[in-house]
Amino acid sequence: MYKAFLIKYAEIGIKGKNRYIFENALRDQIKNVLRNMGEYIVTKEQGRIYIECPDGYDFEETVEALKRVFGIVQICPVMILDTTDWEPLQEAVGDFVQVKYPDRNFTFKMEAKRGNKNYPITSPEICIEMGAYLLKRFPELKVDVHRPEVKIMVEVRNKSYVYSEIIEGPGGMPVGTAGKALLLLSGGIDSPVAGYMISKRGVTIDAVYFHAPPYTSERAKQKVTDLAKLVSRYTGPIRLHVINFTEVQLYIYEKCPHEELTIIMRRYMMKIAEQIATDTGCLGLVTGESIGQVASQTLHSLAATNEVCKLPVYRPLIAFDKQDIVNIAEKINTYETSILPFEDCCTIFVAKHPVTKPSLKVIRNSEKALQEKIDELVNTALETKETLFIQ
Ligand code: ATP
Ligand code: MG
Repeated sequence: MYKAFLIKYAEIGIKGKNRYIFENALRDQIKNVLRNMGEYIVTKEQGRIYIECPDGYDFEETVEALKRVFGIVQICPVMILDTTDWEPLQEAVGDFVQVKYPDRNFTFKMEAKRGNKNYPITSPEICIEMGAYLLKRFPELKVDVHRPEVKIMVEVRNKSYVYSEIIEGPGGMPVGTAGKALLLLSGGIDSPVAGYMISKRGVTIDAVYFHAPPYTSERAKQKVTDLAKLVSRYTGPIRLHVINFTEVQLYIYEKCPHEELTIIMRRYMMKIAEQIATDTGCLGLVTGESIGQVASQTLHSLAATNEVCKLPVYRPLIAFDKQDIVNIAEKINTYETSILPFEDCCTIFVAKHPVTKPSLKVIRNSEKALQEKIDELVNTALETKETLFIQ
């Protein structure tokens, strides 16, 4: 019965003079999620975004897509009338109730808004008149202004809008309004969730994956590509840089104490990631780290990995329990892919007893053994990076 949606946004409505940036980003993200689903027309008008749907569109699918657009607070299926004349409006609201609520066994309240203050009837009058009309046409209805089961909203602007259903959107800020960051994306559960969360605040993301062929398989890489695709359903297109990390890892493995391998490897991942970020206009790094989850995520270890880069490192999951992360992974549909059993490069080279409280002094000292070749290996890794466009 609906041919359109009214999209409401809250947080972004208060951004003063920059408001149009937020609205445009929101409109673009809406267009992006709907782009393969038909000819939708997305327009912004007076602090609202309207979506007109193509004939034969799928309502559920459309709502599902809109629930992935950060910045949307409410998704309201709406009936739009080209006229604002009272008689046809009244009748249309009656027809709306007739079709939408066939048994009409509910209490209701009218709410009205005038976008156009020249409209001859005030908002309270619209409510009273419309309520009276509905009660007359459907005597089985009851009014309850305090706790109505159904609120029927009428907005009179250049056209008239009638709606009663409000579907909750994801909230957050539209992607594209907060700069770009580089996500360190592994095949695990955490980093896809971290990417989702940071982009919920409006951040555009690119991603980098370190793989170590032949120690990690093509399928492990495919898994990460699949995860990037799942995350991009929320974040919009992602540029995924794939770094061949094998030579760097082998060299560290050869030269450094094995219980320090993970920390030193992670330091080199951060360094390489920072270089890519700087080269591609990313303003920070994002990881899926969470305090205490594994040996490399104690405060000591985090301090050691953090030390090598100057860019801010955002860790949206830092204080989350694993179960909370799993819950989000399930919600955003990355969990099933994340638990597929392909080795990622860290699990191959992990020591049996990794240090949990690395001392910076010791780590820096161990890294001296790498002096001869490490810069060259890092450069080669950067030069041979492969970049995939995921959408
Ligand atoms: P995840 O579930 O994200 O893999 P994890 O619990 O396995 O996390 P670690 O392996 O210690 O944790 O990695 C911590 C973070 O470092 C990851 O969340 C990710 O951001 C980054 N990371 C780890 N391995 C890789 C990799 N191979 N490529 C890119 N980033 C990685
Ligand atoms: Mg991992």
